[in-house]
Amino acid sequence: MADDAFDFDLFVIGGGSGGVRAARVAAGEYGAKVGLAEDDRYGGTCVIRGCVPKKLMVFASGYSEVVAEANAYGWDLREGPFDWHGFKKKLNGELDRLEGVYRKLLGGSGVETFDQRATLKDAHTVALADGTTKTAKHILIATGGHPVRPDIPNADLGIVSDDIFNLEQLPKSLLIIGGGYIACEFACIMKGLGVEVTQYYRGAQVLRGFDDEARGLVAESMRENGIDLHVGTNIVEMSLAADHEDGATPTGSDASMGVSAQDAAAMRSKKPAAGAGQSGPIWVKSTNGGEKIFDMVLFATGRDPSSRNMGLEDVGVSLGRRGQIEVNSYSQTGVPSIYAIGDVTDRVNLTPVAIREGMAFVQTVFGGHPTEVDHELIASAVFTQPEMGTVGLSEEAAREQEEIEVYATSFRPMQTAFADKSDRVLMKLVVSKATRVVLGCHIVAPHAGELIQLAGIAVKAKLTKEQFDATCAVHPTMSEELVTMRNPTRSA
Ligand code: NDP
Repeated sequence: MADDAFDFDLFVIGGGSGGVRAARVAAGEYGAKVGLAEDDRYGGTCVIRGCVPKKLMVFASGYSEVVAEANAYGWDLREGPFDWHGFKKKLNGELDRLEGVYRKLLGGSGVETFDQRATLKDAHTVALADGTTKTAKHILIATGGHPVRPDIPNADLGIVSDDIFNLEQLPKSLLIIGGGYIACEFACIMKGLGVEVTQYYRGAQVLRGFDDEARGLVAESMRENGIDLHVGTNIVEMSLAADHEDGATPTGSDASMGVSAQDAAAMRSKKPAAGAGQSGPIWVKSTNGGEKIFDMVLFATGRDPSSRNMGLEDVGVSLGRRGQIEVNSYSQTGVPSIYAIGDVTDRVNLTPVAIREGMAFVQTVFGGHPTEVDHELIASAVFTQPEMGTVGLSEEAAREQEEIEVYATSFRPMQTAFADKSDRVLMKLVVSKATRVVLGCHIVAPHAGELIQLAGIAVKAKLTKEQFDATCAVHPTMSEELVTMRNPTRSA
């Protein structure tokens, strides 16, 4: 189908999940002549420094609970130390394998790849870092996003999520700034791997935007698991403890908040824990006036779209305040030949959404079926311990919209209750009083990510509470509660 006026039918900038999917489907299924440029590793944030390595770390951290639980069930297991180096080596091997799969998929579909940075020269021309240019009938920007640090002096002493997978050793103590997905997930991961974790979140409760009851239970569980979570607290100053005049000042009596003054003095003379952004223990002052010293500080303070210095504005593509590319419901920018998908558009920043946006783009441009992306009722999970799975409206958002009934139950699950653990789970449905449609489902429980994938089908299909109830329970499970809650907990 190649249009001889151009080098390519499609040129994709960015080899992450969205860009790779769009490129290989356009080439493999529609016979388009496709080029793709990527200046980093293929697979993007999800595969190389996000979802995949993060989830493997979630699995690794979960094993710290297994010995005590197994022993309660009659086994005689002994705890041993966690081998970060061994894990990291295996992790890197897995990421290399996955990157190879991505490259192979592209090659197998006939996509020509360019391992270099690309910028825009005009509405149909891409300039590559080696000085060459390529023309294309359509250009797709799929450059993703990147973590940002807050605007405070010495912020570069802290690491960001990208750096975690490359740490040479785990810190003894870690301060995490932020209360979103990344902050809460890494607080749980690091705690599970044996790190003393302190978390500062500037708002009243972590995981803003999620159902209040669900995020309340996650926060409570995080604290019970030993994470020193402070809400209404932010970082105001930081410096290397060695450079700070009062570097040995006050972690005070609360050793879990950081390290003691004596430890701090000792740390200043020892070889630093290897972090990407630091060279020794870090002194931190918080909004409540407290001063602490930590081995490492992780900024999980959000991500910005990676759209700067690409020539986008010069060719007439509009960017929003945070640099997000503005697109219509077909992912098309104001320049008709240029489209954008994924985190660089800052719509719903999740891998499966970027992939669907990529597919909708291909169907629109190459398949002859204009396809809008459906951003409604997307299920997602936060991989904390316990996990939170959610789809649809929170109780608070639903209450703003219409009259609702809430069906919720919180209980100690059989598996861990038997091992005398105090963990609780939450199963919750938010139901429209008028239509009986289930508007939202919120689960806090082990494997909530797996459960919400299935509950998400029913919520997406707009099933009613009565249709949930008509489904026979699977017994004994935690999730049977989703079809057995007879009476509303409250109405609003
Ligand atoms: P989020 O936007 O979810 O959270 C950022 C956090 O940092 C918020 O708690 C925010 O506070 C806080 N913050 C922002 N600026 C500052 C500041 N200057 N000082 C102190 N705190 C600050 O971003 P994440 O980086 O956690 O995640 C980015 C996106 O990646 C997510 O929105 C999600 O779409 C995706 N993601 C999905 C995952 C999953 O599906 N499991 C896992 C990880 C990421 P406030 O609430 O007050 O704004």
